[in-house]
This record gives sequence, C-alpha cells and structure tokens, in this order.
Amino acid sequence: MRSKIVAGNWKMNNNQDETESLLTDLKNNLPSTTAEVIVAPTFVNLAQATSAVKDSAIQVAAQNMHFAANGAFTGEISADMLLNIGIDTVIIGHSERRAYFGETDELLAKKVATALDNNMRIIFCFGEELEDRKSGNHFKVVASQLKNGLFSLPADAFKSIVLAYEPVWAIGTGETASPEQAQEMHAFIRETLSEAYSSDIAQEVSILYGGSVKPGNANEIFSKPDVDGGLIGGASLVADDFLAIVKAI
Ligand code: PEP
Repeated sequence: MRSKIVAGNWKMNNNQDETESLLTDLKNNLPSTTAEVIVAPTFVNLAQATSAVKDSAIQVAAQNMHFAANGAFTGEISADMLLNIGIDTVIIGHSERRAYFGETDELLAKKVATALDNNMRIIFCFGEELEDRKSGNHFKVVASQLKNGLFSLPADAFKSIVLAYEPVWAIGTGETASPEQAQEMHAFIRETLSEAYSSDIAQEVSILYGGSVKPGNANEIFSKPDVDGGLIGGASLVADDFLAIVKAI
C-alpha cells in the first residue's frame, strides 16, 4: 500500500554508543506522524537498534543482504539472519553498493527474489549518474534499472517493494534534484510501472526521493504529488535534522 515514508540510511556510521544515543534522541522527540519512519544502521548494531526502538513507531531496516540462504560467502549476511533478529526490511541496490561493490542489475534481481521469498519488504534504490543526465539518457537508464532489477517479478511482489529514486549526482554532494526534476522522474517511474504492469500497481507503490534531502529542502520536495517521502543519508545522522525532515512530511 502506498504510504509516506522517511527512511534514514546510516551507511558505515555510528558505533554502538552513537547508535544508542541517536535512537534515544529520535525516540524521545519523534513527532506524531502518519508517515513511516525507518532507520538503517550498520549490520552489527541492528539487534541493538531493534530493541532500542521497541516501544516507538521507528522501524529498523538493513542496508544490504546476500541472495544465498547460507554458505561460503565470507563477510555476508543472509535473509534468515536478519529475520531472526526481527529485521524484515532491507535496502537493495543502493548506488554505493552498485558503484563500490560491483552490484549489477542481475545480482540485485537475485537479492530482490530472495528477499521476497522470505516475505521481506524491500527498499529498492536506483538512479542515473551525472553523465546520464547531462547526455539526456536519465529516463532510459532508470527504465532499464527498473526493468532489469524488478520487471520479471509478478505484480503481487510490488506490495512488498518501496522504490527509492536516487540520482547518483545528488547523493552526498549537497546538490539536490530540484523538486520539479524529482517530480518529473517520479511521474516517469509511475508511467513505466503502469506500462509494465498496471496503473493500479503504479499508483500503489511508494516512491521515495533520495539525494541531499535536508530540513531546508524537504518540504518542497515532499510536496510534489508523486514523491512519497525520502531516503536520507547525511541528514539522518543528526537527530534534529532527521526529525525536521520527518516533520516536513
Ligand atoms: C543516500 O545515500 O541514500 C543519500 C540520499 O545520501 P544523502 O542524503 O547524504 O545525499
């Protein structure tokens, strides 16, 4: 079901003490909202984070997982390991996984399939590079990431998928897509989903925008009709900033 979501991707930040302190701040100051609020700490702090937010509306997600059920994959984490500590939401396809860890559309499609087989919810990230936008290929690139990563799934799968459009040139750069650019791409994503599946599916999927969302620009971006919230990196590490972004939704 389409819902408003603000999700914080903490990346490789926050040790156990910092995790405790940030979650305490968020929990104690969380505004009343109908939006879902999700944080994605690093693997080693997921269990701690789950128990820290137990009596609050904050949900906890993982930043990644492997597609295999288990086995000789040194350093990796399985769906079962996440579920076993109460984590049923996972970010898949973040641009840093794609760029620094060589995760391809094909690999991501396998991760998506595993997450769905395990009844997990997925925040699926995608978005074009700066050169794609400069050369006018951004729609083509996004359509191909969606097709390769998701479009062999049955329609039903989209009940468990949240999309996160994150133009790579706007991630961690301080440069945000304008609200108009975000809206234009989100509308295109819905149109692409509608053509591949149906307009019902297109209207039911939550599409988040990610890329240098801050308290100062969140309101305007979130006011666009096809933007259902944000995936927040840097600003999710500062309690006051993240809370201001939650308020903006
Ligand atoms: C992200 O990494 O998903 C992200 C959007 O980062 P930032 O908000 O820092 O641009």
